[in-house]
Formats: sequence, C-alpha cells, structure tokens
Amino acid sequence: MIAAAACGVLTWTLLEYLIHRWMGHDRRFRRSPFGIEHVRHHVEGNYFAPTWKKLVAAALVAAVLCGPAIAIAGVANGVAYVAGLVAFYGVYEWLHRREHTHAGVGPYGRWARRHHFHHHFVDARTNHGVTSPLWDVAFGTYRRPTKIRVPAKLCMAWLRDPVTGEIRSEHAGTYELR
Ligand SMILES: [Zn+2]
Ligand SMILES: [Zn+2]
Repeated sequence: MIAAAACGVLTWTLLEYLIHRWMGHDRRFRRSPFGIEHVRHHVEGNYFAPTWKKLVAAALVAAVLCGPAIAIAGVANGVAYVAGLVAFYGVYEWLHRREHTHAGVGPYGRWARRHHFHHHFVDARTNHGVTSPLWDVAFGTYRRPTKIRVPAKLCMAWLRDPVTGEIRSEHAGTYELR
C-alpha cells in the first residue's frame, strides 16, 4: 500500500507538470477553464483560482481514477494510489500558495521559490514543475535560475523590504527589481 501511495504521489508530480505546461501555457488550451485561471495567475501575480473549483476538479479526478485503479491494483492498493495522488495534489496547492505569500525556509523552500519565479518572471516555457524538477529535467524544460528580475508591480510582499520598497537584503543576491 505504501508503494501504491508513492506511485500516486509520482503520478501527481507528472500531472502537475503536464497540466501546467499544456493546459496553462499551450496556445491551444488557453481558453480551457484551467488556462483562463492560469493566465490570470500570471498576469495578476497574487490571484489564485477559487478553492471550490480546485475541490471540484480534485473530486472529479479522484472519482474517475478510482475505478481503473481498483480494477488494476485491488481495493486497498487502488484506494492508496488515489489517496496518495490527491494528498500530494493538496501539498502542491499549499506549496504553490506559500511560494507567493511567504519566504522559503531551508534549501528546499528557497529552491522551490527560485524554480517557480524563474517560470513566472524569466521564461514561462521552463520550470513547469512546482514540487519537483523531475519532469522538467525529463522533458528538457529545466533551467537553473540565475538572478531573477522581478517586475516591481508583481513583486511578492515577502521579497520586499516594507520600509525601503527594495528587495530585502537577504535576497538581494538572488532577486532584483526591474
Ligand atoms: Zn505558469
Ligand atoms: Zn505561481
């Protein structure tokens, strides 16, 4: 069951990449419900799709996956697989929001922000993964960020010194305003 749940987690990391890269950034899917919400997230910076939409989407995906997963792996493993996938989707949602609202803690927290804000502000054709670089590496879209130039009007509050309005000194080596 642990292996099945781990497979569910891995499947989510792939879905996270595919949905973001294709539904979020391919012209053909710009008009899809995800595409519209995602373009708005990029344009406004601090906009996130309403939670009810995310819950409906997660419930639909879980309902669709449960049948085949149970048919292939049995009830216990099938449910563990879908539970692992949905739980890690929740982790992704939490992490993505935290990246925009709070400074990163530890090497992973800092890496995740630099990876994601390179996608936002440097090149939206790269770094589609949010929780891991795994599928960016596999599909050749991984870029190691250099100094990230952040547009002043989209700058995250955690990155800015509230007194001077400039980039906080601890981030000045890795981010700059433009
Ligand atoms: Zn994006
Ligand atoms: Zn984002």
